[in-house]
Amino acid sequence: MQQKHNFGAGPCILAPSVMQQAANAVINWNDSGLSILEVSHRSAAFENVIRKTQLLVRELLNVPNDYSVLFLQGGASTQFAMVPMNFLQKKSRAAYLDTGYFAQKAIKEARLFGEVEIIASSKDKNYAYIPDYSSNDQRVAYLHCTSNNTIEGTEMFEFPGFGIPLVCDMSSDIFSRRINVRDFDLIYAGAQKNMGPAGMTLVIAKNKFLDSVKAEVPAMMDYRVFRDNDSMYNTPPVFSIYVAMLNLLWLKDQGGVEGIEKMNIKKANMLYQEIDRNPLFKGTANVAHRSRMNVTFKAIDEATEKAFLQFAEELGLVGIKGYRTVGGFRASLYNALPIASVEVLVNAMKQFENSRK
Ligand code: PMP
Repeated sequence: MQQKHNFGAGPCILAPSVMQQAANAVINWNDSGLSILEVSHRSAAFENVIRKTQLLVRELLNVPNDYSVLFLQGGASTQFAMVPMNFLQKKSRAAYLDTGYFAQKAIKEARLFGEVEIIASSKDKNYAYIPDYSSNDQRVAYLHCTSNNTIEGTEMFEFPGFGIPLVCDMSSDIFSRRINVRDFDLIYAGAQKNMGPAGMTLVIAKNKFLDSVKAEVPAMMDYRVFRDNDSMYNTPPVFSIYVAMLNLLWLKDQGGVEGIEKMNIKKANMLYQEIDRNPLFKGTANVAHRSRMNVTFKAIDEATEKAFLQFAEELGLVGIKGYRTVGGFRASLYNALPIASVEVLVNAMKQFENSRK
């Protein structure tokens, strides 16, 4: 079988050693004679897994003690509704940064619960940049932002909160770089990028912020229910959490978030350099806001784009077609994508250029 280089945007590549351990656990978990898929979530062995995964999240991201680490379900899309359901009371207002497709979805859901003030938007340029923003309106319940815009290929490198509780969708760049958790009151992320398989949603929230909730919400939409039940109010996504644990252990071996961040910068620089050098391609995002996780670019015309897609596919390069709202290409460089795969892509771009001379 031809070796594949998986640049998919999510679910995405995980390290081969993680895949192997996960596969083994499906057949016979730790020599227990049972599959990880059939054990009780209330067993001591699984309780140990969930505890260990929480501790790894705390350790890798330096989560302060007055923050809770929760494992929820429903993906980041459920968080689009759960955040306003908890924190936005009727007649109150929240501020949103409109930086792309997923920010828009978050805004749409928030409007079901209260008033949304868009304090800055980059819609005018098809979300190719991160807009400047400021707010001195201390009455808003929170300010919502998206740290990495998976589709548009832009990333926020600064997080001014202006004294307002800051809520951040970090689905596509969590664990890829260092962050200061204290900058945020609530962070959420679907697991299926740098954490593990789809199914679990990570929430890191300041306890004081959670305690400020006044709304009556259904148990499964109530952060405090998950906090007070150690993320075991109901059956948690056992497999997703287990593989996240394996993957976070792998991340620790890579030098943790600091180590992987260096590698991610290297990978992204390599690819952007080729995009800027190669006359057949052009980056789509504002240079200062270029994402290290999702590199978006275009070919000079449609025929060239089609031809390169086919050329790349023949070399085993998978998942580089851009999302329809942006077009062109999107190469996702998540943590587990080896630098060797980026080299294959860069060389493919060079070979393609030479073949057209
Ligand atoms: N936010 C961002 C930034 C994303 O990239 C995604 C998924 N690609 C989502 C939200 C939606 O996540 P989910 O599919 O887990 O609901």
